[in-house]
Formats: sequence, structure tokens, C-alpha cells
Amino acid sequence: MRYSALSLVKNALTGNRNWKPVWRDASPKEAYDVVIVGGGGHGLATAHYLAKEHGITNVGVLEKSTIGSGNVGRNTTIIRSNYLLPGNTAFYEWSMKLWEKLEQDINYNAMISQRGVLNLFHSDAQRDAFARRGNAMRMNGVDADLLDQDQVRAMAPYLDFETARFPVKGGLLQKRGGTVRHDAVAWGYARAADQRGVDICQNCEVTGIRVENGRVAGVETTKGFVRARKVALAAAGHSSRVAAMAGLRLPIESHVLQAFVSEGIKPLVHQVITFGAGHFYISQSDKGGLVFGGDIDGYNSYAQRGSLPLVEQVMEEGMALMPMLGRLRMLRSWGGVMDMSMDGSPIIDVTPIEGLYLNAGWCYGGFKATPASGWCFAHTIAQNQRHPLSAAFRLDRFASGHLIDEKGSGAMPNLH
Ligand SMILES: Cc1cc2nc3c(=O)[nH]c(=O)nc-3n(C[C@H](O)[C@H](O)[C@H](O)COP(=O)(O)OP(=O)(O)OC[C@H]3O[C@@H](n4cnc5c(N)ncnc54)[C@H](O)[C@@H]3O)c2cc1C
Repeated sequence: MRYSALSLVKNALTGNRNWKPVWRDASPKEAYDVVIVGGGGHGLATAHYLAKEHGITNVGVLEKSTIGSGNVGRNTTIIRSNYLLPGNTAFYEWSMKLWEKLEQDINYNAMISQRGVLNLFHSDAQRDAFARRGNAMRMNGVDADLLDQDQVRAMAPYLDFETARFPVKGGLLQKRGGTVRHDAVAWGYARAADQRGVDICQNCEVTGIRVENGRVAGVETTKGFVRARKVALAAAGHSSRVAAMAGLRLPIESHVLQAFVSEGIKPLVHQVITFGAGHFYISQSDKGGLVFGGDIDGYNSYAQRGSLPLVEQVMEEGMALMPMLGRLRMLRSWGGVMDMSMDGSPIIDVTPIEGLYLNAGWCYGGFKATPASGWCFAHTIAQNQRHPLSAAFRLDRFASGHLIDEKGSGAMPNLH
């Protein structure tokens, strides 16, 4: 079924009884050309681009739970391409370009809202660092504007400019950045892949990876053995556990990241805003709730919920920036399991095991990468080689020392 104004009218006039399920609830077949482990944003986008760009449709996406129940449905929906380092800039900008035409590509309303992402600075030194990043972005064809205090005040008069411990001095704005409805990304990619023949198998956990003579043979699952010529891992927070099934030890730690939503208020925060003197960011959903978050919890965990000290820390950082937040009630919070790599950048690569491919290490920024990640991973699986845009995201960089250390914080997941 293609969605259109006509289909809306037709279904409205027939009592909305004829809508078809958005995707088939498939059971795994005995064998596939490609099995994708993990039906999150990255796994589903990979399936879509494998089918659409490479004509590979004999694909099974095996998801242990229901699609959208992982980080793709738990993030704070921010997209941007404001990166500094060469390995990152072109990749994230391609992702932004794919976001800009995603709704037409998959015929699904993902509520893409390019409302702008504004990174605040609070000191002269920080302004210089942001000017450098903005210049690097512009030289790579990415939009960036350095704003002074008055320009920021005009956009966000509710911020604390003078009396705060860290007064706002200005900001770096990427106007094309913004938000996307996260669940719709999962559903839209699932629907588009399904329409091209991909099987999306929910409640099908991969429990083992069978390797024969150095080559992948298939996966053991809770629904039986599934043979596959190629197996692609896209398990995000569970990457280390899934890769260990094939004997691979990844340079990744799993940590919890929390998000918070306040009660709904009238339109106030018109951009995505990040605090430069701590780790806090905020935007406003279409329902009126303020959506915000901060740092990861500092311990390793696979639980999808976080700890109270981090809640307190995020609230304090928010109030340091926007004292009015103290008048609001917080309605909801949740956590997701982050695959924190040791340099803060991802891995999209072949592995030492023939036919086994890896997509992991997204830290807390993988939502914005979903389209480009799927695009490049599909290429890597189909062609058995890295895509030029993700060439720097090699697995062996942690051994060779070619790190993409955008934050300059080294092998410390709690610092990036
Ligand atoms: C609170 C929070 C806020 C965030 N905010 C942002 C943001 O604003 N912007 C941004 O860019 N990024 C953000 N992120 C990060 C982003 O959500 C993730 O990096 C990204 O979603 C990870 O890729 P994914 O969608 O494929 O992951 P997931 O949706 O987690 O997909 C992985 C899937 O693999 C499945 N799986 C795991 N093990 C197995 C197995 N053995 N067998 C079968 N299936 C398995 C899981 O069930 C899961 O569905 C945030 C994350 C969180 C938690």
C-alpha cells in the first residue's frame, strides 16, 4: 500500500477498515543470502538499502524483541552533521542528505523537522573551538553559523545570560540540524524493506553464530538454525555479546544513557539547544513536552534504565542553563544501552571471519547516522569492502592507532 492523500480519503470514507499491516510479521526461512542481527534503525536501514540499492532481497532481519524497542525508539531524536574530523564530516553530511529525502524515499511521514541545532559556548576559548569546527564544516560544504550573544538571545531569550555560573556568550548553529520522529524511522524503514521482500522476524533472538572453516555458515536462533551466506551484526548496545558468539572481542563497552520528558507546555524551545559547560541538551516535542538528556551512567550495564544520581546531575545542568526548568514537572524517563567505542566513533567493517560484517560503536549519537550507516553497511555487505564514506570506521584502527578521536578524550567512554 502506498500512502497518499487519495488513500487517506478513501480509507476515511470506508471507516478505516481496509488499512493493511505496515509490514508482514515473518517467520525466519531456512536460509537467506544475508541475515541481519538486530532490527533497530541501523539493521532496518541496512535491509532497505541492500534491497533498493543492491537488489539483494533474500534478507532476514532477526530481532530478539519487537522492532523499535531498542535505542531507535529510545533516543532523543536529534539529527545533525556538525562534525570536525575528516573521517566523520562527509559521512554525517551524507546522512543529513539522506534524511532530507527520506520521507519521499520510503513513502512514510517521519516528521523530519530541521529546526536547527544550537551548541552554546560560555568562554572565549570555547568560542574559538566552535569557530574552528564551524570553519571545518563550511569547508566541507556543511552549513554552520557562529552566533554572538545577542543573536542567541533573540532565538532563546529564556536562557541565563548574565547571572549564571556559566553565562551564555554565543553559539554555533547548524540550521539544517533538528529532530526526526524516531519510531517512524524504524517503522518506515521496516515497511520499505518489507515491500521489497525482506523478512522482518520479531521475537527471534540470535543465540549463536556458526562458523565453519573460517567462514560464517549461519545463526542459531530461538526459532532454530538459519543458514546464511552472510551475517551482518547491527545489535547496537548488545554488539559485544553478539560478536562474542563468533569469538570476536570488540573495543566496546555497554553503558546506559537516560532521557527525560517534562509535562507539556506551550511552544518555548524552538531549536535543539546544547549546554557548553556541561553535558545537557534540550528540545521540545510536538506534544509540548521538553525532551532532554545528558551524560551516560558511569558503569557498565545492559539494563534499559538508569540511576538516580545521573537524574540529579541532568536536572542540575538543565537548571544552570534554564532556571525556569525548576518549575516544571518531569513526566517520564527511560534508558537505553549504548555501544560506547573507545574513541567515540563507530565501526562499519568486514571482520576477520569471512562473511561476517560488523556495524557497532555508535555511542550516544547513532540515531542521526541511521541512513548513512545503513547505506554504507549495505555497500560493505554487498561488495565485501568498505564504502568510501565509512572508510575510516575500520575495526583494526584500535590496533593500528588510526583513531577518530573527535572529542579528544581518549579511551574513556564516560568522557565522550
Ligand atoms: C536516551 C538516548 C538518547 C539518545 N539520543 C540520541 C540523539 O538525540 N541523536 C542521536 O543521533 N543518537 C541518539 N542516541 C543514540 C541512538 O539511539 C543509537 O546510537 C542508535 O539508535 C543505535 O542503533 P540502532 O537504532 O540500530 O539500535 P537499536 O534500536 O538498539 O537496535 C539494535 C537491536 O538489536 C537487537 N538485538 C540485540 N541482541 C540481539 C540478538 N542476540 N538477536 C537479535 N536481536 C538482537 C536489539 O533488541 C535491538 O532492537 C540516543 C540513545 C539513547 C538511549
